[in-house]
Amino acid sequence: MSSGTLSSCLNHPSIEAVGRCKQCGKPFCGTCEILGPTGRFCSDACKQRHEVFVKRASKLDDMRRTSGVFGKLMARLKKLLVYAAAILIIAVVIHFFGVRVPIVSDIISKVL
Ligand SMILES: [Zn+2]
Ligand SMILES: [Zn+2]
Repeated sequence: MSSGTLSSCLNHPSIEAVGRCKQCGKPFCGTCEILGPTGRFCSDACKQRHEVFVKRASKLDDMRRTSGVFGKLMARLKKLLVYAAAILIIAVVIHFFGVRVPIVSDIISKVL
């Protein structure tokens, strides 16, 4: 009876595992081990799945980076739009009240 630090292989219960799959975390022995560019895996399916995952993660990271620059620009544009809208609203309000408030309509007639 051997009691190692790692559990036995996923496919060979009698053989002690040498590592764990980077994709699913299952233990594998030296025979079952599959080496991939992104790590060690229990099966080819796990290797491929992890490669797709890594590719997708890096793509997402790229998207986040570009959207960060784009987002800053959009935030600046939004701020400008908010200012423009606020000025427009104030102008409309002043103009609307200007009909009844002589001082304000006097200012408007001087500005325009
Ligand atoms: Zn696996
Ligand atoms: Zn095995």
